Amino acid sequence: MTVLVTGGAGFIGSHLVDHLLTETDENITILDNFSTGSDSNLSHLETDRVDTVDGDIRDASLVADLIADADTVYHLAAAVGVKRIVENPLDSLRTNLEGTKNVLEAAAQDATPTFIASSSEVYGKSEAIPFAEDDDRVYGSTASPRWGYATAKAADEFLAVGFQKEHGLPVVVGRYFNIVGPRQTGQYGMVIPTFVKQALAGDDLTVYGDGTQIRSFTHVADAVSITHELLSTPAAHGEVFNIGAPGPTSINNLAKRVIELTDSDSAITHIPFEEAYDEDFEEPDAREPDISKLRATIGREPEADLDRILRDVIANRTDRVSIE
Ligand code: UDP
Repeated sequence: MTVLVTGGAGFIGSHLVDHLLTETDENITILDNFSTGSDSNLSHLETDRVDTVDGDIRDASLVADLIADADTVYHLAAAVGVKRIVENPLDSLRTNLEGTKNVLEAAAQDATPTFIASSSEVYGKSEAIPFAEDDDRVYGSTASPRWGYATAKAADEFLAVGFQKEHGLPVVVGRYFNIVGPRQTGQYGMVIPTFVKQALAGDDLTVYGDGTQIRSFTHVADAVSITHELLSTPAAHGEVFNIGAPGPTSINNLAKRVIELTDSDSAITHIPFEEAYDEDFEEPDAREPDISKLRATIGREPEADLDRILRDVIANRTDRVSIE
């Protein structure tokens, strides 16, 4: 049996590869263009069960060939990181729209079970906390590139569910909520690796805005085991799920906790959003998943709390040479 993991050299993808190696006896093919993925995410692997293909998900014939040889597909390759997306909107749109279309079209040929990674970004600036899968989406103007990413991910979801309805493709869509953990880099703007790096260096922690915004940080180990379990559960096929931890935290609290757990002398500075991103940037205030559908379908939910996440990130950070 062969599993294709697109984006397998990325942060979440490489953890999924680790999980599949431990929990199954399947061989794994990784498709990654190493734009945000990295060799260092895979360098710990000592196995002949993993093949890595350096290629782009926008290459339809390459995607079709790899999927023809696969029994299962996890499609995690995407343009990621709010900062990067805002800076390269066109590249992000093309990767996320064309790439997913290529994967779904190829998977539909043999009805190959496929997981499509989506994002809590699809809820936009909705204030209906916590977000349930069938809630309304609330987006801003097309002048703000952030909503281009949300729109592309939402279009991916429509495509996935369309392929299930019209072609019988066994597909699961997972909306990831702030997935964090060891190996995540701060290069693309993600807050936890950024804060941990700042705290360990004794630099000020840069909280954007007033820091009262709320996020639900989810350990990557929970995210990948739930991803695997959902695609292995026939009742989940054709459905969209929130994959996120209950128990949200404010960014101010996060900064405080990082300083405490690293035993750092760093201070906290607040930086206006316009300075951190650009003038058209809109920041959603609160992101929290309703996970009743996840619980009802697989009988479990993410387990790691914020302290466990931070301890794992800090231990990993102090253990290895920085790649940033
Ligand atoms: N953030 C911050 N300082 C940073 C990076 C991010 O205060 O150096 C904030 C960001 O504005 C957001 C939250 O932390 O409110 C989470 O940001 P991230 O980019 O990790 O994920 P997002 O929820 O924006 O997708």
